[in-house]
Amino acid sequence: MQKLQNYINGELVEPISGRYIDNYDPAIGEVYSLIPDSNEEDVQQAVAAAQAAFEGWSLMPAEQRSRIMLRISALIEDNLDRLAKAESVDNGKPVSLATQVDIPRAAKNFWFYATGLGHYSSQAHAMENAAINYTLRHPLGVVGCISPWNLPLYLFSWKIAPALAAGNCVVAKPSEITPMTAYLLSEICQQAGLPKGVLNIIHGYGHKAGAAIVSHPQVKAISFTGGTKTGEAIAREAAPKFKKLSLELGGKNPNIIFADCNYEQMLETTLRSSFANQGQICLCGSRIFVEKSLYEKFKKDFVARVKDMCIGDPAVDGTHIGAVVSEPHMNKILSYIELAQQEGGTLLTGGKRHQLQGRCANGYFVEPTVVEGLSYDCRVNQEEIFGPVVTIMPFETEEEVLKYANSVQYGLSSTVWTESLNRATRLAQQIEAGIVWVNCWLLRDLRTPFGGVKASGVGREGGFDAMEFFTEPKNVCIKI
Ligand code: NAD
Repeated sequence: MQKLQNYINGELVEPISGRYIDNYDPAIGEVYSLIPDSNEEDVQQAVAAAQAAFEGWSLMPAEQRSRIMLRISALIEDNLDRLAKAESVDNGKPVSLATQVDIPRAAKNFWFYATGLGHYSSQAHAMENAAINYTLRHPLGVVGCISPWNLPLYLFSWKIAPALAAGNCVVAKPSEITPMTAYLLSEICQQAGLPKGVLNIIHGYGHKAGAAIVSHPQVKAISFTGGTKTGEAIAREAAPKFKKLSLELGGKNPNIIFADCNYEQMLETTLRSSFANQGQICLCGSRIFVEKSLYEKFKKDFVARVKDMCIGDPAVDGTHIGAVVSEPHMNKILSYIELAQQEGGTLLTGGKRHQLQGRCANGYFVEPTVVEGLSYDCRVNQEEIFGPVVTIMPFETEEEVLKYANSVQYGLSSTVWTESLNRATRLAQQIEAGIVWVNCWLLRDLRTPFGGVKASGVGREGGFDAMEFFTEPKNVCIKI
């Protein structure tokens, strides 16, 4: 069975403990590889390697840094099929999704920051006849990047690329549930000629390897994407040590549909925003609010389209819904479906584990599920499920739907469907979220600020926001 290795100081190495964790293929429900169970000592080695590499990397001319990152981007593209297949096996997502979304985006993340670093500049502030101030932006040193399992290489590279572009050295940990493409990225970095120690990839459990990265005194910043509870634990550990923190956390996003919307476009996109990646995207719109006059028509058409979705082997083209990521996660999703019924909801379609035949007979598949009849403030409408489960609810006025939309502790993204520019603008002002999509979903310009409000996180990724996070400003004031 394949044993993954840590990537420390440019080498692929065994964990010091010699211990490994089982890695499951969720579509077949079997262990197919082993992951290093890294501990504090592995992290210590990675941090030491990163520190030793820092001077060389941060002083390397920007153009040279950029060229190395462009090679990493090109190698990800060259390995598209292999990486997409690996992502699909590791996560359960349809290989078509990994081919069209996950892996191209990972290549683009490196391209975006490799080119962006050449355009990044700091500011100057002239004080009339008194002084000129200019701001230097120093890389921080060694930084930690910790990512989740839902978009493995996509989110891993979304953190690593700006950190490297800004001149930092990185100790990164992918999710122990989906480590494979991060491992393949270490091989790609070796091929691309990334100097040793600049990026170190440690595999293992969050509470062990992840916590060791967060608490290490030489790790100056933590960029974390994952659950809100984990974000809290990381903030508790890092805040008293005065580390910079970027936290991208959970969501419970509203999808608000008015009767004057472009109906076909809305329906098509709402299928995706509900069930893409089995609903396991932090940006999925899991609470669907529909204007009362459109509600019955929407319900009929939406449920019919959901019933047509193909649940199947993620390796097969034409599969819309693959496996959810793990058995515990499947059980969590099923328990929320149970709770929805206890809370008075009616299942319009779905609701059960899906049984496939043949190769995937023991895989973790959940039917795409639509629930109606729940109140906006019940647990199912307040807590993140992170699976193929949506609720639909009618509303009559803008004030009412805003109250529903903003009632949750989260504030990551939101979607508004209306042809009225005035209404869209009004709502966009008032929705408590880091992102408002009007008549679209997951349309991403990487230059824009990305992140959430309330319990969805602290800080923004994307564009120069990420470059700012990964640098420390220093103002120099020269008296004239
Ligand atoms: P998780 O919080 O369980 O784990 C995320 C990462 O943190 C993993 O690598 C894990 O090993 C590590 N970790 C766990 N405990 C740790 C600790 N004490 N110290 C340091 N690291 C630790 O999240 P998950 O289940 O992998 O991912 C799903 C969650 O991620 C959902 O809540 C989802 O909404 C969220 N998410 C948010 C965004 C966003 O951009 N806001 C994007 C994707 C996913």
